Amino acid sequence: MLTFEGSFYSSFVKILYHKKALSEYLASFRREGKHIGLVPTMGALHAGHLSLLNYIKEYCDISVCSIFVNPTQFNDPEDLEKYPRPIQQDLKLLEEIGCDVVFIPAVEEMYGEGEEWTIELGRLDQVLEGALRPGHYQGVTQIVKKLFDVVKPDVACFGQKDYQQFLVVEKMVEIYSLDIDLIMCPTLREADGLAMSSRNVRLSPKGRQQALAIVKTLIGFQETYLDLGLGEARDQAIRKLTESEGLTLEYFEVCEPQTLRTVHSAKKGDQLVVLVAAWVDGVRLIDNIILGQSV
Ligand code: AMP
Repeated sequence: MLTFEGSFYSSFVKILYHKKALSEYLASFRREGKHIGLVPTMGALHAGHLSLLNYIKEYCDISVCSIFVNPTQFNDPEDLEKYPRPIQQDLKLLEEIGCDVVFIPAVEEMYGEGEEWTIELGRLDQVLEGALRPGHYQGVTQIVKKLFDVVKPDVACFGQKDYQQFLVVEKMVEIYSLDIDLIMCPTLREADGLAMSSRNVRLSPKGRQQALAIVKTLIGFQETYLDLGLGEARDQAIRKLTESEGLTLEYFEVCEPQTLRTVHSAKKGDQLVVLVAAWVDGVRLIDNIILGQSV
């Protein structure tokens, strides 16, 4: 069913595999003055991804979802290899929510031989995820720029779940002066608070429970930092996560929301973002909260 250009999984979703076919298909809508929205994903879709698409569906005429496990943003070959790719299930979900276009390119469609890419992202590429996953944001910006060039969206949605990624894409859009509205959508969580992630399926039942320490600690921090003071609340959070069974903490940082500079004190009303990365069951999990917002 998914073998030739323009084949339909259902009567609603247009599935395209090639850049040329996609840009030609979208050009006809653009000529009619239709607004096009894009949600770039790596597939293994969950309700978090679908919430981004629902936003696009509400505010744009044509919703485009790309599914591409982008090799250049993986600094860990095992993570790339183990990344889930349930494409039939993804297409079913996209059909159910009424997504208009799905772009599923092969690696060769997106990358030429020996292609290079460098963009100056400054400290955003040097702290937190940038520091711990060297080259990750170069790979992210490389593929997002390619997707933006093909789709030419009016709007693109990204999740707060990947907070630093949003800032990086924002910076890239500024560098290239792209006329695209970027929207950050809230993190969708499981009923018990765990941030939804395609990687969660790799957690064992026990690991799944242990991973809850991340969101619990974020909430605990949010509830106490004004009374305890930021330094003490941060120390407590780090102690809690470090002592958490089955979990290996990479960072717990309280930062300015735009620069991601570490913050050492805070008063009520300050806009801050608290970011965490930790390993559970050999799976790297990230989460964050913006202080003042409910989790
Ligand atoms: P990914 O497939 O992991 O590259 O994610 C594609 C998009 O979905 C990114 O903009 C993510 O930030 C967003 N996303 C991932 N998980 C969630 C979530 N739990 N809630 C909201 N958006 C999410």
